[in-house]
Amino acid sequence: MSFGLKKEKTPFLEYKKSCYRFYDARLRAIENIDEELNRFESQFSNKHNAVFWATDYNDVFESLKRLFKTEKTRSVRLPNINSSTIFRELGIKYFLSDQKIELRDDADMNFFAADMMFSDNGSLLLSNQTNNTFSKLSNKNTNVIFITIDRIICNSDMIEVYQQLMDYRNGGASQDMIVFKGSPNCSNYLFIIDNQRSNILAEKNIRKVLSCIECGRCNDVCPVYQSIGDEPYNNVFTGPISHITLPYLETFESYKHLVYACTLCGACEEVCPLELPIREMIVNVRQSFFSDEVLDKSDRRQLTIMRRFLSNRSKMNTIKLLRYKLLSMFISQDLKKSRRIQPLDQETFNKAFKKNNGNDK
Ligand code: SF4
Ligand code: SF4
Repeated sequence: MSFGLKKEKTPFLEYKKSCYRFYDARLRAIENIDEELNRFESQFSNKHNAVFWATDYNDVFESLKRLFKTEKTRSVRLPNINSSTIFRELGIKYFLSDQKIELRDDADMNFFAADMMFSDNGSLLLSNQTNNTFSKLSNKNTNVIFITIDRIICNSDMIEVYQQLMDYRNGGASQDMIVFKGSPNCSNYLFIIDNQRSNILAEKNIRKVLSCIECGRCNDVCPVYQSIGDEPYNNVFTGPISHITLPYLETFESYKHLVYACTLCGACEEVCPLELPIREMIVNVRQSFFSDEVLDKSDRRQLTIMRRFLSNRSKMNTIKLLRYKLLSMFISQDLKKSRRIQPLDQETFNKAFKKNNGNDK
């Protein structure tokens, strides 16, 4: 059975308090994830609903191939791919095209991306679908729903808070959401996917990053993200949180530079409704690079030179060309390919400060 959430919303009477309660519930689910996932599964599963556990892309694709065979699937209906990170993360369009599965609205099988699992009652929250596609959930259809292991919360009474926090992504407008527990008219297959999240869960001092709800507020204020944009990340995950997660979701070798592309200014934390300690986690990841010896000799040498250079005022006041050369040495080659290094000011900060100070007198 499923039901849509009312569009009219009660405004947050106690915004901060609601956010704290929400964060607390998310954190509890993340800290006890094995137990909460089992609790969810036992409540969701029945003769119409089945759960598939998948370690990575290959697991998902192998199970899907078997499912297509047993269900004799020729076509699939996909929701708007841009609003579903999980579909882009999996590269589902390429997989379906390889399997010669046609994409159409009146397909044999419907794909959905779920936002959240509620472990207290075994329901799913689905958003960003049109009314038309919601109706398919209860008709005589085969539905395949995808979600990653971290999208879990203990209390279903947090739905409204979640819904309102996510309105930011829609420019303040309410998103269409539905709570889904299955329907006797259709078969529902839920894929719960790890895809390297357990690497993050294994790191005690950063695992709270998984409670992020991807609302996008921090992306809009991060000076680094605003200056480099999506392209240098070369990933579906971009912005402040990806500086922490991508080395674990992908490889340390290809993403270690990201945690150093942060000035620790704290703008992201100021806007985060969950008050996630982003800077603390970034520093923790930096430290783990040193302790795990992920940094090679040349990285360490560059960081030592940079530290000496940046902490020495007379060196920072040195001539413009030398400063430019030194700084460009420390900017990742990947970033340099896609972005021009910003020109430095003609004057050093000291000179400009003295001049302005003199003018003020
Ligand atoms: S602390 Fe780092 S990630 Fe956060 S806004 Fe500042 S530069 Fe961006
Ligand atoms: S870190 Fe906070 S502000 Fe940024 S996307 Fe996650 S919940 Fe939103």
